[in-house]
Amino acid sequence: MSKNTAIKNGITRRTLLQSAAAVVPVSLTGCASLSGDSPADDRIPLVRNSDPVALAVAYHTDTREVAADNPLAATHDVSQKCANCIHGRGTDGPGRIVCGTFPGRRVSPNGWCSVWAQG
Ligand code: SF4
Repeated sequence: MSKNTAIKNGITRRTLLQSAAAVVPVSLTGCASLSGDSPADDRIPLVRNSDPVALAVAYHTDTREVAADNPLAATHDVSQKCANCIHGRGTDGPGRIVCGTFPGRRVSPNGWCSVWAQG
């Protein structure tokens, strides 16, 4: 092996190692991000009633406890819940509905918000 080849190979090995070190975390992050919307990912948090977006759409984890005096709940009925809402996109486990109103989080099947529409 010539010196030039060794240097070339050394650079290549170093470059590969540096590249691998840089790419692996990104790949893992990318996988985690992709799996963040997968049904099996239980790390996705549930929406809380106190969440700012939840407050903006009058979301409550229990449709039976939606405040009747909330103007956003003027058309609310206890039969309306995330489990029968058109915006629900299936579940990722018991008690967890995927909802387009709360991307990256999950809502309760018994929840409700003012975006509800019959599914
Ligand atoms: S849009 Fe539908 S599924 Fe999403 S939180 Fe509101 S009621 Fe629940």
